[in-house]
Amino acid sequence: MPPNYRVYILKLDHRPERDKRVTMHTALVARAFGSQSFYLSGICDNNIKSNLSGVTQQWGGEIEFSCINNPVKFSKKWKEGGGEIIHLTMYGLQVDDVIDDIRSSLKDKLVIIGGPKVDPIYYELADYNVAIGNQPHSEIAALAIFLDRLFKGRELYLEFSGGTVRIIPSPRGKRVERKKEH
Ligand code: SAM
Repeated sequence: MPPNYRVYILKLDHRPERDKRVTMHTALVARAFGSQSFYLSGICDNNIKSNLSGVTQQWGGEIEFSCINNPVKFSKKWKEGGGEIIHLTMYGLQVDDVIDDIRSSLKDKLVIIGGPKVDPIYYELADYNVAIGNQPHSEIAALAIFLDRLFKGRELYLEFSGGTVRIIPSPRGKRVERKKEH
């Protein structure tokens, strides 16, 4: 059964020359693991938008992409609108200690992931500061593990509508089936 809330991702402080691949991979995780939107603050990078749209044209599904000029204002408005904020940080509470509360709240969720430095205001704005272990690693890994715990692994079985191809899982080699046009 799909959850009664939607999950949106905000990646802070993007710099294309430094973060191109990392940001693209967080956007791919956001899409593949069942998020509705990928929001980007920092330098607006339409390459991320067009790469993401190329992936959805081929593999299906829908994910909205927007650049956010003022992520603090955006986050405050998100909360005023009734949503909650989950900030992923190694300084937060262990995911296992809070994931049941987060999952049982019916509020739409904005999951914030940072770059090298995160403004302290996000720790204040967050309803939950969540650690995927208390060691530094990566926003890609943190996002994937968080979404997997939130959706209890069901996101791995999502069927994406649209697109032109789908994979037929096989023990060896690559089997890809062309979808029928409607
Ligand atoms: N000092 C940072 C921190 O507060 O987690 C690590 C910076 S890391 C290069 C970039 C982003 O990856 C962080 O802003 C956070 O969103 C995510 N991240 C890294 N390690 C994490 C962890 N153990 N738990 C949760 N998120 C993590």
